[in-house]
Amino acid sequence: MSEHYCIAGDIGGTNIRVSLVDAEYQIVSKLKEPTGTEPLSVLFRLIDSISLNVPGGRQACGIGLAVAGIVDTAAGVVLRSPNIPVLSGVHLQGAIAKRYGTCTLIENDANAAAFGEKIAGAGRDFGSFVLLTLGTGIGGGIVLNNRLLHVAAEIGHTTVNAAGPQCGCGSLGCLESYSSATAIIGGAISAMEKGTASILKESYNGNFYKLTAEDIYKAALEGDPLARLVLREAGKALGIGIANMINLMSPEAVILTGGLVGAWKIYIEAAIAEASKRSFAELFSKVRIVPSSLGDDAGSIGMAALTFEKGEGCRHNG
Ligand SMILES: [Zn+2]
Repeated sequence: MSEHYCIAGDIGGTNIRVSLVDAEYQIVSKLKEPTGTEPLSVLFRLIDSISLNVPGGRQACGIGLAVAGIVDTAAGVVLRSPNIPVLSGVHLQGAIAKRYGTCTLIENDANAAAFGEKIAGAGRDFGSFVLLTLGTGIGGGIVLNNRLLHVAAEIGHTTVNAAGPQCGCGSLGCLESYSSATAIIGGAISAMEKGTASILKESYNGNFYKLTAEDIYKAALEGDPLARLVLREAGKALGIGIANMINLMSPEAVILTGGLVGAWKIYIEAAIAEASKRSFAELFSKVRIVPSSLGDDAGSIGMAALTFEKGEGCRHNG
């Protein structure tokens, strides 16, 4: 029964994950390697390993890949991947289909994560929701009336301050420039460079350029005023982005995932407070703002679900 397994991959700026997933959306086997400078070689090696060495791998009915970037799902092309530039313009679906001769599809990583949460995670009970990935950057995915919207959903690149700083995408004042881990770390470092006092200054023997968002959250919990300020400001901007989504599509839920969800007590709580001020009370009162339940596996599970769906069409097309 070939349709009982599929291979799902998640190609991020830091790591590439490839999993074998069964029809109950359980991850049977999982491999991970740093993305490096030759992501396609890494990807092929991981897929080879899963398909040849893991029981069930040879019977996989298809391969689904989630990619960090703007993806043309219908054409199977990665249009632009800011964190993995060598993939920009690559016909990834074609390359995989040619090598493995199997049903293949690609999708944006946050979209895949949203569908994963819908199928088997925190989104199961919601017909319509927005998922935000809060990490180095900010990604988004939208489920509407139980279906994944195959749109860009780049909520991290919607404007929260018209006069804000230049973003890597070319625009100004993007949500990502205020609320990502990169923004939080950058905010703390630049304040310390200007002389603001903080216990963070003693981190890493004074080399505070090595700070992580987790270090900043820990300092904030210890009461450090700078750490608290930086996280609250980032959270407020996130709240503006969330309020925009609530007013735009009145979702039943906003699901939050990624490393920054660990900073719930200050950062996310500031976001919720701000979103409540900026969205229609009638809409805000109905929305649930919750953490994801699948974490890093959401993208793979979502890709597996999409691949199983597409598998039917592939067989009919020969
Ligand atoms: Zn941007």
